[in-house]
Amino acid sequence: PVRVRFCPSPTGNPHVGLVRTALFNWAFAKHHGGTLVFRIEDTDAARDSEESYTQLLDSMRWLGFDWDEGPEVGGPHAPYRQSQRMDIYRDVAAKLLDAGHAYRCYCSQEELDTRREAARAAGKPSGYDGHCRELTGAQVEEYRAQGREPIVRFRMPDEPVTFTDLVRGEITYLPENVPDYGIVRANGAPLYTLVNPVDDALMDITHVLRGEDLLSSTPRQIALYKALTELGIAQRTPAFGHLPYVMGEGNKKLSKRDPQASLNLYRERGFLPEGLLNYLSLLGWSLSADRDVFTVEEMVAAFDVADVQPNPARFDLKKCEAINADHIRMLDVKDFTERCRPWLQAPAAPWAPEAFDEAKWQAVAPHAQTRLKVLSEITDNVDFLFLPEPAFDEASWTKAMKEGSDALLRTAREKLDAADWTSAESLKEAVLAAGEAHGLKLGKAQAPVRVAVTGRTVGLPLFESLEVLGKETTLARIDAALA
Ligand code: GLU
Repeated sequence: PVRVRFCPSPTGNPHVGLVRTALFNWAFAKHHGGTLVFRIEDTDAARDSEESYTQLLDSMRWLGFDWDEGPEVGGPHAPYRQSQRMDIYRDVAAKLLDAGHAYRCYCSQEELDTRREAARAAGKPSGYDGHCRELTGAQVEEYRAQGREPIVRFRMPDEPVTFTDLVRGEITYLPENVPDYGIVRANGAPLYTLVNPVDDALMDITHVLRGEDLLSSTPRQIALYKALTELGIAQRTPAFGHLPYVMGEGNKKLSKRDPQASLNLYRERGFLPEGLLNYLSLLGWSLSADRDVFTVEEMVAAFDVADVQPNPARFDLKKCEAINADHIRMLDVKDFTERCRPWLQAPAAPWAPEAFDEAKWQAVAPHAQTRLKVLSEITDNVDFLFLPEPAFDEASWTKAMKEGSDALLRTAREKLDAADWTSAESLKEAVLAAGEAHGLKLGKAQAPVRVAVTGRTVGLPLFESLEVLGKETTLARIDAALA
């Protein structure tokens, strides 16, 4: 049975790299009818926060992910927050020490730095040099007497580590490149290097899918697994697959701090979870060469880690928006009407709450659905319906109101006054006729009308908009523009 895990640390705001990792694990679990374990790696008290934890859970729910074991749902390996599992790590560290798979290291940071520099200068590997591997009882006594507080270090075997990465194929690490590494701090706090594989072992994880930045920790973890298996703590070594880096602006690695990386930004801008997930799935994977837009169910049905590409993926906001726009079109119109609500209310909406008119919104929503890239754009697109006056901006006004606009507006007003206001087509003919009278094509003729009535040069289909706004208000706004 497939058992995968998503195990973020609750630091800062959730970012798109994290979501991509969650998505691939979730899709992998679903595809195989397996189990997704959600674990919180909060052993770094200095960096972890409760706020970030709450946000993580909220984000996962918003994205539509579910998990079989983890916070809020529990499971056979509870607790799923590492901060509540400290006894387990203490116990495993003691067993590793007893069995000789780990040892106490008394080297001070200064000594480590000095020796590292010297090794570098001599062109030798600069990782930990094994100084405390075989200390005599007398040396240990002496260090103790000096008041040194040891860390616990894992003893790497003196042989290469080879594994077959699910994405990258066979990889070998030579022992000189994987030195002994710390697993418990001098103050007794266990490190990621210990707690992550220990929990993967205890939670019986079969596949680890995570970012490429963690590739170099894999040989260490595989060696640790071997030791844990020997001690009867691990059942197996999981298979590892490392998802490609995500590159941002200027072909630099997208960093957590990059504003484009913040998940909250996408939520606030009104990306649909399904649009965002569709786009993020393309960061390293594809459904087929000729189809970029698909549902998450289609992704799950087709997902295979073997199809993940190892080369870096480029994050392209424009493409992300275009895919989101397609998902907006795919919504049932009722669903669309409801999902826009947050942007039709305070604080997003600039109009008075009582000015909002449900019937007008329902009438205009189908037209809006064909236009938006992200839901937050709805506010500006419909504000002309609910504000007492259009929200003019200087640039739109000067762009549309050229010489001759007044004359055109006067004719348009006349024709609109005589038009049939139950038909957008009739309103279009009115403006078309006004244009003809002044030697203007429809596009040019409708621009001043649009700005006079909606305040903007671009927006929803104009004649449908006028029909919804109504004759009285439309004519009054043209009059105001002419005044
Ligand atoms: N807590 C680790 C992180 O967020 C998990 C790494 C892993 O997947 O092994 O980077």
